[in-house]
Amino acid sequence: MCGIVGFMGRTDVAPEIVHGLTSLQHRGQDAAGLVTFDTRFRMKKGLGLAAEVFRNVDLKAFAGPWGLGHVRYATQGKDDLMDAQPFAINYPFGIAMVHNGNVTNFNELRKELFEQKHRLLETSNDLELILYTLASQLEQRRLGNLCAEDIFDSVEETQKAVQGAYSTITIIANEGMLAFTDPYGIRPLVMGRKFTKLGIIYGFASESSTFDYLGYEKVRDLKPGEAIFIDKERQSDTKELTVQGRAFCVFEYIYFAREDSHIHGRLVAGERVRMGKKLAETFRATGLQPDIVVDVPASAYFFASGLAEELGVPYRRGLSKNKYIGRSFISSSQTEREKVVRQKLNPIKEIVEGKKVAVVDDSIVRGTTSKHLVKLLRESGAKEVYFVSAAPPIRFPCIYGIDMSIKREIIAANYEIDGIARYIGADAVIYQSLEDLRELYNDLPCCYACFSGNYPTGIGSEALDEIERERVCSKNQQKELPF
Ligand code: AMP
Repeated sequence: MCGIVGFMGRTDVAPEIVHGLTSLQHRGQDAAGLVTFDTRFRMKKGLGLAAEVFRNVDLKAFAGPWGLGHVRYATQGKDDLMDAQPFAINYPFGIAMVHNGNVTNFNELRKELFEQKHRLLETSNDLELILYTLASQLEQRRLGNLCAEDIFDSVEETQKAVQGAYSTITIIANEGMLAFTDPYGIRPLVMGRKFTKLGIIYGFASESSTFDYLGYEKVRDLKPGEAIFIDKERQSDTKELTVQGRAFCVFEYIYFAREDSHIHGRLVAGERVRMGKKLAETFRATGLQPDIVVDVPASAYFFASGLAEELGVPYRRGLSKNKYIGRSFISSSQTEREKVVRQKLNPIKEIVEGKKVAVVDDSIVRGTTSKHLVKLLRESGAKEVYFVSAAPPIRFPCIYGIDMSIKREIIAANYEIDGIARYIGADAVIYQSLEDLRELYNDLPCCYACFSGNYPTGIGSEALDEIERERVCSKNQQKELPF
């Protein structure tokens, strides 16, 4: 999963890019980068948070009224500098690109690009595939000046060739800025604009909250398979190209997106409250009656408060979080993950002691967080602990860019609910049902592949195995399993 931004203004946009990336930091902490363009590309990339990468950088050295930015959370490729984005090439045009998502026919496309277009990939980042596919398509149409129609035709061919989930922003030197999504619109991308004395500035970003920070107006979310091209005169043109129907990633609402972002007309915080309220039906059906509902900070607050409201039980902040400890999920080994979880959360004894506690998290993936929290709550005197997941059981790997791609690590792919409760030591585990989640989104077709195993783009078992194998190798996974 990654965060991307692109701006096209009249004055230098580097400061805008850095602010934009900071607002999207939750989408990736492995690397950050920017590229600007006036008469040439100027690029800066580094490992770590945007604030670290750009700390001692004089942004004046990155002149240019057009620019792109990226924060990276490595799911495909390695988490080293070679794989950090943006990428840029100089032939057949100067093209710079950033993307968020995951290409699923990586090996097939790599072979095709090599054998048919003589393009050699330099990194293991799937962005290169999209970039070279688009570049090859543009090359075929470069007689005379490129027009919007040439660009849209090139995107259409690219969408046909590249399978998977991707939202991309591209600078075509001297021509303009292009944004496009995959034919299912799996990953979010939103367009914004700002009116200034010097004229209009256009922006693209993974989430709308970026535009709140920058004082832009949100124009709209991109549609599945849509391309928007803004030419050098800043005239925008759009076309829906390869459209296969919408399959927006529901996990963006559950976990990934910021609570203050609006996606497809829905405030993420509001969606989480709705999911929490819906959970109350399943909870009631168990016959269990908690004394309090607590959240796992910081992502589960809205679920927990919605559930508590519906159950008529007090919501309390029963766990205190140390904000200065990094994310447990992306630690490289299970021992390290457990250590981070231990340092991060501390129960407030007086709040949970002697109580039947329903503790709500957005999801259970490996079971590391839940197991540790149940233990902590018991040690703090909780009488009973019910672990509640706002997401249905995650049983299948995500192949579209969320880091849950190794089946043997996913607890619900290996255990039934009773087994999970035993493993994490809870008196009960209560999951949102997939049917209930689907009901909440019956007017917005979503991707539920990590719960159901139905991948909207279609994928064979061999290709799935291959993705899993590569994932294990590229992350240099340890033999040590969580359960
Ligand atoms: P686990 O501890 O492996 O069961 O993972 C669940 C915890 O990780 C929850 O607290 C989530 O907030 C968080 N989480 C879930 N999915 C992801 C993801 N793809 N990347 C990072 N963190 C995640």
